[in-house]
Amino acid sequence: VSSREYDVLVVGGGPAGYYAGLITAVKGLKTLLVEEERIGGTCLNKSCVPLATLLKYLSTTDLIDKLSREGVGISVSNLSIDAGKLFNYVRSSVVNTLSESMRKTLEDLGVDVFNGKAVLVNDSTAKVGDSYIKFKKAIIATGLKWGSGSGVRPCTEFIDLNELPSKVLIIGCNPFGLSIASIYSMLGSEVIVVDEGSEVLKDFDKEVVNYLMLALAERGVEVMTDTVVNSVVVKQGVREVRLVRGNEVLTVGVDEVFNASVCNPRLDVLGGLNIKLRDGYVWVDASLRTSVGNIYAAGDVTGLSTYAHTAIVQGVVAGVNVSGGNMSFTYRVSPRYTFTYPEIFSVGLTEDEARSLGYEVLTARQSLTSNALAKASMSSGMVKVVVDSRYGGVLGVHAVGYGISEVVNEASIAVTLESTSDTVINTLLAHPTLGEVLRDALLQVLKV
Ligand SMILES: Cc1cc2nc3c(=O)[nH]c(=O)nc-3n(C[C@H](O)[C@H](O)[C@H](O)COP(=O)(O)OP(=O)(O)OC[C@H]3O[C@@H](n4cnc5c(N)ncnc54)[C@H](O)[C@@H]3O)c2cc1C
Repeated sequence: VSSREYDVLVVGGGPAGYYAGLITAVKGLKTLLVEEERIGGTCLNKSCVPLATLLKYLSTTDLIDKLSREGVGISVSNLSIDAGKLFNYVRSSVVNTLSESMRKTLEDLGVDVFNGKAVLVNDSTAKVGDSYIKFKKAIIATGLKWGSGSGVRPCTEFIDLNELPSKVLIIGCNPFGLSIASIYSMLGSEVIVVDEGSEVLKDFDKEVVNYLMLALAERGVEVMTDTVVNSVVVKQGVREVRLVRGNEVLTVGVDEVFNASVCNPRLDVLGGLNIKLRDGYVWVDASLRTSVGNIYAAGDVTGLSTYAHTAIVQGVVAGVNVSGGNMSFTYRVSPRYTFTYPEIFSVGLTEDEARSLGYEVLTARQSLTSNALAKASMSSGMVKVVVDSRYGGVLGVHAVGYGISEVVNEASIAVTLESTSDTVINTLLAHPTLGEVLRDALLQVLKV
């Protein structure tokens, strides 16, 4: 730490802390950002970025394989995947390089970046490593810790293996569990995903979820709902997992078990500070201020976010407000989105949500088969739109398909700006692009 006094202390260098520190530095405040592991946080080092990178590589090999089989004039023989080498490359070359460039961006803006742990002593002093510093304002952005146990790894360790397990069990039929399931199944592992609940991806529209579940089943991923993991016993390197489903008890032997279901906010930063919690997470108001007036919080630790995109916007809002601005965090439209294979997203209201809120809705579906770019990447999938039948407002966009993540931001902007289907249809969308599927789905609404 180069100084003993700062305008702003940011604790945590994940998406929320990174953007918060970036904003306060741009606004000219003397900022210290403390990160005990690596800049980029869970998102860059242990989840979204490694998942997205692996998905990109593996879907490319899948495309090459399809091209070879289709006889288009491109063929590759002896295409092979070494999972251990791949994981190592993603960890050492992709993730580390990005983390270093994020650190450099912060430092170039004048942020002091300290690698160590920060603990708040009171509302103006923190212990940072072995030193004490004074701060005027602080932003807590310490994220979550995923649970582990004997024979059970936190899901954030999916990239840490040195070789491919032949059989994997993942707990949690949510976006994170299913994205890890997709990656391991593409690599060739046998995959089982279990969840004690009865619904898969419960915040997503049912039709796109059904499409994804069929695609995962075709690739051999076994999904078991209403199933509780009763115990995991490690015997000679094999994890014997006892599963209970209703009256049925099954035991399966697997090489790895990942928990993508249970997590808790990381609160050791709070030290002796008496701060209000809500359901165990740091309570914040709409400006992201905590119950201690000069301390703000952003990202997963607030319990208002489970996605990096939410953490990023919260980081921006907290950074702006700490710098004297007046911004509110509203999360009316939060894209639910994940790197399964095929990718899936739900933006805005699902059909069921819209109906239960009293909207009269029109829905339409468009298959990806008539889209030129989807055809070029040998992709399949569908887009479903939910439109308010009275005023034509686009209430929700839901999609599944290879490469469909290219369309999620366009859908998010359309729903956030409360666009009508006419406005979207009248927008000049570049051709040929995958994004045209949104217009084509909305054209189907005109037909209804
Ligand atoms: C398997 C998986 C897949 C995911 N996929 C996606 C996805 O595709 N898209 C998406 O949007 N989101 C995804 N997420 C969620 C995303 O990773 C999180 O929402 C995001 O990382 C939250 O950002 P954050 O800044 O709040 O916290 P984090 O990214 O967790 O960062 C918090 C940082 O604070 C540091 N820290 C904690 N305590 C201290 C302390 N006392 N002192 C110093 N440093 C401290 C930690 O080391 C950590 O680096 C995924 C999550 C998982 C687990």
